[in-house]
Amino acid sequence: MPRTIFMNDRLVPEEEARISVFDHGLLYGDGVFEGLRSYSGRVFRLNDHLDRLWASARAICLEIPMSRERLSQAVLDTLIANKLEDGYIRLIVTRGAGTLGLDPNRCHDPQIIIIADTISLYPKEFYEQGLRIVTAATQRIQTAALSPRIKSLNYLNNIMAKLEGLQAGCVEALMLNHKGEVAECTGDNIFVVRGERMLTPPPDAGILEGITRSAVMELASKEDIDCREATLTRHDLYTADECFLTGTAAEVIPVVEIDGRPIGEGIPGPITKKLKDCFHSLVRQNS
Ligand code: PMP
Repeated sequence: MPRTIFMNDRLVPEEEARISVFDHGLLYGDGVFEGLRSYSGRVFRLNDHLDRLWASARAICLEIPMSRERLSQAVLDTLIANKLEDGYIRLIVTRGAGTLGLDPNRCHDPQIIIIADTISLYPKEFYEQGLRIVTAATQRIQTAALSPRIKSLNYLNNIMAKLEGLQAGCVEALMLNHKGEVAECTGDNIFVVRGERMLTPPPDAGILEGITRSAVMELASKEDIDCREATLTRHDLYTADECFLTGTAAEVIPVVEIDGRPIGEGIPGPITKKLKDCFHSLVRQNS
């Protein structure tokens, strides 16, 4: 079914949603985005996504040409226009059209695009049986080069690692930072369970601070599970009792094998299952 896209200030049919070939979003990946999800017509943690979008934009000196309130309404309008209750939303702000040079100051018309679509989920058996992942040789980009906390349109670092995962027959791949510490996966954050404790790399390990990650950390605290940020190595992963990933699209998904090593018993663990269930109830309550 043709979609209805929000472009700048209005909803247009998909075939009319066009951007310039001079847009620096296209030419240089100069822009920011968010991936959001709606459950029963309500967007999960919309405010947190808008906070992160504004933070990313601020970091690259991009002024979003719309108020938060208006943009928030535009997200909801796009969902309604596409008759989507349970959907995936891509919110993009590009630098806009400029010259062929890099200079962002010569771009004067940032484009706001909102796409709402059905969500393409991982097969059910991945959630029941857990994922196998491998470590990519591609390192997560260093914070001093480009902060992974910026959700920018430039995702080649992650795509290079994703290619490595796919070549090894895995849908996700683990990325380490330049110090060899665990950072995150190509599009998901990572957690391990060791004894009674849950651990996840801190923001300065070079991660995107996932909104699902925060939600899961809050759920852990409500469930009296000790959850902390900690520097992790691959050894910590290989010897963990459980491992799982979090992300808007993936939600909470167990990992049962990393680099050919079974994690724990090689099946999804009890804490992972508990948090997966808690997360599913949370998104339906939408708090
Ligand atoms: N890390 C990266 C690199 C991502 O692209 C994503 C997906 N946005 C995540 C982590 C998970 O973040 P969130 O829970 O906000 O979707």
